Amino acid sequence: MKAYKNYSTRQTPQAEPIPGEEMVENSAGGFVFGVDDWKRLERFLILGSEGGTYYVGERKLTKENADCVLRCIKADGKRTVDVIVEISKAGRAPKNDPALFALAMCAGLGDGKTKGYALEQLSKVARIGTHLFHFAEYVQQFRGWGRGLKNAVRDWYQEMSLDRLAYQAVKYQRRDGWSHRDLLRLSHPKTDDKKRNAIYKWITTGDVLQPANKVIEGYEKAMAAEKPKPYMILDYGLTREMIPTSWLQSVDVWGALLRNMPITAMVRNLGKMTSVGLLAPMSDVLSVVTKRLKDPERIKQARVHPLSVLVAMKTYANGHGLRGKLSWNPAREIVDALDECFYLSFKGVEPTNKRCLLALDVSGSMGWNNIAGMPITPREASAAMALTTAKVEPIYSIMGFSHHFVNLSISPRQRLDDVVGMMTGVPMGATDCSLPMLWATKGSVPVDVFVIYTDNETWYGNIHPCQALDAYRQKMGIDAKLVVVGMTATGFSIANPDDIGTLDVVGFDTATPNIISDFVR
Ligand code: CA
Repeated sequence: MKAYKNYSTRQTPQAEPIPGEEMVENSAGGFVFGVDDWKRLERFLILGSEGGTYYVGERKLTKENADCVLRCIKADGKRTVDVIVEISKAGRAPKNDPALFALAMCAGLGDGKTKGYALEQLSKVARIGTHLFHFAEYVQQFRGWGRGLKNAVRDWYQEMSLDRLAYQAVKYQRRDGWSHRDLLRLSHPKTDDKKRNAIYKWITTGDVLQPANKVIEGYEKAMAAEKPKPYMILDYGLTREMIPTSWLQSVDVWGALLRNMPITAMVRNLGKMTSVGLLAPMSDVLSVVTKRLKDPERIKQARVHPLSVLVAMKTYANGHGLRGKLSWNPAREIVDALDECFYLSFKGVEPTNKRCLLALDVSGSMGWNNIAGMPITPREASAAMALTTAKVEPIYSIMGFSHHFVNLSISPRQRLDDVVGMMTGVPMGATDCSLPMLWATKGSVPVDVFVIYTDNETWYGNIHPCQALDAYRQKMGIDAKLVVVGMTATGFSIANPDDIGTLDVVGFDTATPNIISDFVR
């Protein structure tokens, strides 16, 4: 009998593929499903390849993802461009670089139609000067400066409103080896509009022609001033980047800057504003800042990304910057407001009222490297993601697994920075993604949806996660769903693509909690 015992489609060790299923070997030596190129494109656009993963270096991960983008371009160039524009415009990704890079690939490697279409969309993806500089750098990796490309850059300048153009020109004059001057010289925009012409002239020569734009005039005056003049900031609408750095030690200067500061800049400068004494305990300014951080409209308008908020919170609560000597006494009110801001920065989530088991992969590979190139590990990030569901659902449990299944005593009532700190201390080991289902089967725990946060590098178990899910459904008579939240931009998933009760989503996509709740409902 023994000779025939080891071949089963209901229980297969993860180190072997399930007989009859098309599976791929992941980087940990386990077998999983491959995600299709369109799903992987999404993962890449949202998570990027910066820093690589525990298993794969940055260079190799970039190559794998870029190869995937190339396959998408070959299969359907227009669809590829549309996906890039959609994700970038909606602010679903923590960083815009993967989108700029992928758009540059479309503009260089697509067929004639795709190239033209990609360049037409340039201003939708490269929304500010810095983006345009990055695009200019990436695009050279795939093509030369032909007429189509020059025209697209020319239109970027020509079609921008005057005030916005002047603001872009002054705010970031150069970045990463590119300047507006370089790009204007390459693309030669011509205009009869005197005001626009004056801006171009200032960019290329530094001469201030009349009629001068207000922000350019203000910038020149501020640079010539001998000591800080906060009123200039208000009169001319100047930002932190448009004034001499010596001004930045003055509390009045920061007070003036704060008046019209975009919320994304405000989130980045909380430490500095606390250290100069602007955000003093119980001050009016402090309540202005916390009010803005909790303003859903403001957050939505500015496309504040939850991962930036999480990173800001971790840094701010620490009381010192990642680099440099800056330190401050964190204000409790700010940390609490950032906590609220985090939840508000996701697309609105409706409760499903289903029984949710939120299972976090806490294995070694999840504690390695950064998510989307931000100073936070996939493990810390998944805890924060899980809390977005826990926050709205009445019935849930948050558990962690590597080779054991453990209760994580975290809840959305705790502050995120504490939760993130706690995640660092959870013991880790080999990875077995079937454990949530096995645990629920063994204990007859009623679960409507398993949500697993993982890098899909499972290998340790003697049954595949999808088989464990089937066994759970049969034993309990519940048609339980499985949502897999992929925390790295690899091509692997434990989600069986043939199971309509299973969904694969991307970790730290602002739309993810909402997609999960729609799917479960
Ligand atoms: Ca692992």
